[in-house]
Amino acid sequence: METVRESRSTKVAKEDYLMVIRILNDFYGEASLTLIANELGVTPATAHKVIEHLSNEGYVVKLSRGIYTLTDNGNELAGKMLGKHRILEVFLGILGFSQLETHVYAHELEHVNDLVIDKIYNMLGKPRVCPHGNPIYGKPEGVRLSKSYPGRVIVTAVAELKSVLGFLASNRISINDTLTVIRRRKGNVTVEFNGRQIIIDDSIASGIIVMESR
Ligand SMILES: [Zn+2]
Ligand SMILES: [Zn+2]
Repeated sequence: METVRESRSTKVAKEDYLMVIRILNDFYGEASLTLIANELGVTPATAHKVIEHLSNEGYVVKLSRGIYTLTDNGNELAGKMLGKHRILEVFLGILGFSQLETHVYAHELEHVNDLVIDKIYNMLGKPRVCPHGNPIYGKPEGVRLSKSYPGRVIVTAVAELKSVLGFLASNRISINDTLTVIRRRKGNVTVEFNGRQIIIDDSIASGIIVMESR
């Protein structure tokens, strides 16, 4: 897997929690404490404490044991932060950073003020999607690779999670690449890419959105 420098302080901002919960919701339909903690590189106990706090502030609600979603207020704040994050990703992509790097480095820059973001957004010509195929404002639509039928598919969007982006980077798969779905089994899907068969666990394949290719 490619190495990405991470100079961000170890303190994870509350906004990062909201963004991760939003991404997990958009792609997986739910956000579990385990996945939230994994993604942010904190212990489940730490994540739980912060989430309780966010819930008291009216941003997060608990659906069932260890499963969370955002309130309307939480969704709005997370959407705004993700928009800024994705504008910065487009900018970093133009500077030549890889898909994984744009995501990691955008997190370091996204706390800059709205005026700076607006200027960058306009300079970029108001892009519609980020380097991962996700709408700047909104959620990606389409078929999950974990649910797609055998045949050729094009990768149109991917979840901005280190697990998914790391998997794609280590297999050199990018947005707009064509994969051939060989078979789908309970828990995983086998694809062929560049003459190589790869078995992809559903936890990753659910984070990859594809479109049928003809
Ligand atoms: Zn990102
Ligand atoms: Zn992105």
